[in-house]
Amino acid sequence: MFEKSISDYLQKHGYPHLQLKAALFDMDGVLFNSMPYHADAWHKVMERHGLHLSREEAYLHEGRTGASTINIVYQRQFGKDASPELIEGIYAEKSKEFNSHPEPERMPGAWETLQKVKAAGITPVLVTGSGQHSLLDRLTHNFPGMFDRSHMVTAFDVKYGKPNPEPYLMGLEKAGVQAHEAIVVENAPIGVQAGVAAGIFTIAVNTGPLDGQVLLDAGANLLFPSMQALCDNWQELLDALKK
Ligand code: CA
Repeated sequence: MFEKSISDYLQKHGYPHLQLKAALFDMDGVLFNSMPYHADAWHKVMERHGLHLSREEAYLHEGRTGASTINIVYQRQFGKDASPELIEGIYAEKSKEFNSHPEPERMPGAWETLQKVKAAGITPVLVTGSGQHSLLDRLTHNFPGMFDRSHMVTAFDVKYGKPNPEPYLMGLEKAGVQAHEAIVVENAPIGVQAGVAAGIFTIAVNTGPLDGQVLLDAGANLLFPSMQALCDNWQELLDALKK
């Protein structure tokens, strides 16, 4: 069932085959069920500053750096860039608002998927646009032993952020692998665009309220309705990737 997606990808890039060595995971909406809290925090804090960003739209911006999201909305309303001070202030408030929610839970199926990834000898790499210290700390707590500190790309590492391929290219570099030696697991359209632009086989897991077609339109090579579905299909996918 996965062979067609894989052969289309190989043909497009002119790779003879995939040699899976690393799996690049996004964090919010993939490892943690944190997106409803993010969308809520974004909406509330932006509104406080007279900036209009609905919870639904927040899902479409998911994966961008906070600074970039703030500036896009500011530009749209005022036709000029937001000042660095305003951006910093709003992002700090947004982080505070996010942290006032209960701790986000692990996405169902995420821990089991990571265990299967590790058992297959594949290196898990974290590639997130998040700069939330709290959630990054929680990563160590909720996914013990999964992510080596040297195998993490966060908002602190990147200049452009998703949808630019930069974060995923950096993830490849940190893992010491080539594009055809990795997969990306993403839940947001912008994240999918970044993975695809980096030339990596990109798997979308639709864990939010968006139509799955949005993820396919963004270029996803495969689409699963949940992390649990990816987990349940992991062995079959791995076998297909090895062919
Ligand atoms: Ca995400």
